[in-house]
Amino acid sequence: MKKLTALVLSALLLFSLSIPAWGGGTLKVGTEAGFMPFEYVDEKTGELLGFDMDLIRAVGETLGLKVEIDNIHWDGLIPALLNKNYDAVIAGMTITEERAASVNFSEPYFESVLTIVIKDQDQGLIKGTEDLTGKIAAVQINTTGDFEATDLAEAGALKSVARFDTVPDSMQAVLVGAADVILVDLPVAKSYLAANPGAPLQHLGPITDNEFYGIAIHKQNPELLEQINSALKQLQADGTYDQIFDKWFGTE
Ligand code: GLN
Repeated sequence: MKKLTALVLSALLLFSLSIPAWGGGTLKVGTEAGFMPFEYVDEKTGELLGFDMDLIRAVGETLGLKVEIDNIHWDGLIPALLNKNYDAVIAGMTITEERAASVNFSEPYFESVLTIVIKDQDQGLIKGTEDLTGKIAAVQINTTGDFEATDLAEAGALKSVARFDTVPDSMQAVLVGAADVILVDLPVAKSYLAANPGAPLQHLGPITDNEFYGIAIHKQNPELLEQINSALKQLQADGTYDQIFDKWFGTE
């Protein structure tokens, strides 16, 4: 009988060890680090830096979990989460109805909006979405910028959409003349232009309604959703959130 109990217990232990990512003392997080100032790679140290990185590390600390972050392709983040490779995804990811059909989102942690990045030479000529007729818009694939550009193209207000794996690639497309404008999140446009002062680009103001970033979690893990939401609440109450916000956006 004792032997049987031991056998069952070790089988249970083995089973629990083989459950990927969930339930341990580690929070396995996926991101796509081409989205400064939310997530990017420090060129010198290779470290993942940014607002989201600080926030998720603070969430982990609050929950007593070690945080491990992987940098993968944007378009692979939700599939990887659905595949249970990660406990959570934080990537400046806008909470949308379509995404919320497949994953859970935490409470919103950041309010954002889309803008248009234009070439210096188009200043005064392209002032908003109404001036894009005949133009090619570069976007990062499957982002809200892509969805907005696709809508504009379908309405005939844009010639076509050129889709790229990363935001920097879409910026590059305009610099080399393969596209005319970029549709991207405003804080990221600001950060990219500040980091690349030589680029002959500038950004407009908001072009759409505000959107909200959330941390994505597997629908089968409602306990973690609750834990992350309570950690976010605590970080807002104890001033940590404001500290992180000021660190990355303090000058605005
Ligand atoms: N906020 C945009 C979206 O969720 C872009 C995110 C990103 O490129 N990291 O679609």
